[in-house]
Amino acid sequence: LPLALLLLCAFQVCSASEGKCCANHVAPWNFSLDFVPHILHALEQYRPCSSQPSDPDCECHALTIRRDLGPYAEAGITRAMISQSRRLGVVYKVIDGRIYRQPEVPHPKRCADVEDMLLGIAVELPNVEFILNVCDWPQVPFLSGFTGPVFSHSVSHQHLDIMCPAWSFSSVSGPPLQRFPHGIGQWGHMRRHMAAAAAQVSWEHKQPIGFFRGTRSSTERDTLVRLSGRSPDLVDAQYTSNVGAETVDEVPFSGHCQYKYLFNFGGITASFRLRHILLCKSLVLHVGDQWQEFFYSSLKPWVHYVPVPSNATVESLEQLLVDLRLHDDLAEEIAERGFQFVWQHLRLQDVQCYWRNLLQEYAKLLKYRVEQEPGFIEVRKQTKALQKF
Ligand code: UDP
Repeated sequence: LPLALLLLCAFQVCSASEGKCCANHVAPWNFSLDFVPHILHALEQYRPCSSQPSDPDCECHALTIRRDLGPYAEAGITRAMISQSRRLGVVYKVIDGRIYRQPEVPHPKRCADVEDMLLGIAVELPNVEFILNVCDWPQVPFLSGFTGPVFSHSVSHQHLDIMCPAWSFSSVSGPPLQRFPHGIGQWGHMRRHMAAAAAQVSWEHKQPIGFFRGTRSSTERDTLVRLSGRSPDLVDAQYTSNVGAETVDEVPFSGHCQYKYLFNFGGITASFRLRHILLCKSLVLHVGDQWQEFFYSSLKPWVHYVPVPSNATVESLEQLLVDLRLHDDLAEEIAERGFQFVWQHLRLQDVQCYWRNLLQEYAKLLKYRVEQEPGFIEVRKQTKALQKF
């Protein structure tokens, strides 16, 4: 990495060169301050992310690709770098429009879901080789001396992994739920399902309380659960899994749309819930900004969601919800904009477009010719159906 970029990132300084560290940092704000000026300011600054509303070239998420590939722009990606990265994920190669990968893989369901997405665009891809991390946690810690490249679905500001769409945009490998034992659902289907659920309950008919269901995958969630115990008329936040403690049944995504204020927290990394709950036309309160997915930078705080610091206290969360009730019209407008953004700019075609643009730009950085490798298998449509889930 260029030293200047390393230093900028080490001090979390955002520069025009959009170093990796400069993701969608949320300026800290004080709950005791009125949030209305934040909304007005954010709206004043906000510009539509694409020149055409249908965003045929997926300009909306293009900045993330530039930012993530930025560290490799100068020196490129060599065969030696790829060799070092191989132990951290699954090796994929695209050669003449066909996809190949190593035969043995961890998390075969996750691989199958990503492959499903890639098969749809294979003929448009240049010859390319990349390492896909199918574990939850990113693999390239910042300032570790190791620079990757590794593709991961979620990263923090402390990682240099190149973000790619999560396997859960496809069908079978998302986290299993009681009513969706094979995962949280194929995104194309879930989008329509959630939009229909949102249409069932108008803003006026939503319960004016904060809502959360999930596992205790991060302690950040405890504060809201505590507030729920203290003020059940203001918040209903309960764990569906928490070792040694009482838990409640899961609520399907569509059930979330009954409530006005939906909380999103990071978990082990980014939670897959954010894109689903934005489709409820409820107001999303997004806690913390440590974990990102590829589309997070395009969502703007106060425009599409309310940013909440991860160290918010019980009292400040309580005050925030009380204040949001008082500014019901503003809350409804943010909820509507959040919905519109995901509906218009996080379509399955945007996810595929992101993969296509990412691989096309990444391929330009490769400093060697991608070649067939003995033992690699070709990924075909039926590979997924044949896998033992
Ligand atoms: N989930 C859900 N209903 C529930 C509990 C969880 O829809 O009652 C979804 C949740 O939104 C997320 C996934 O299941 O997309 C896993 O949630 P969990 O809290 O277990 O983990 P996370 O990924 O958020 O850390």
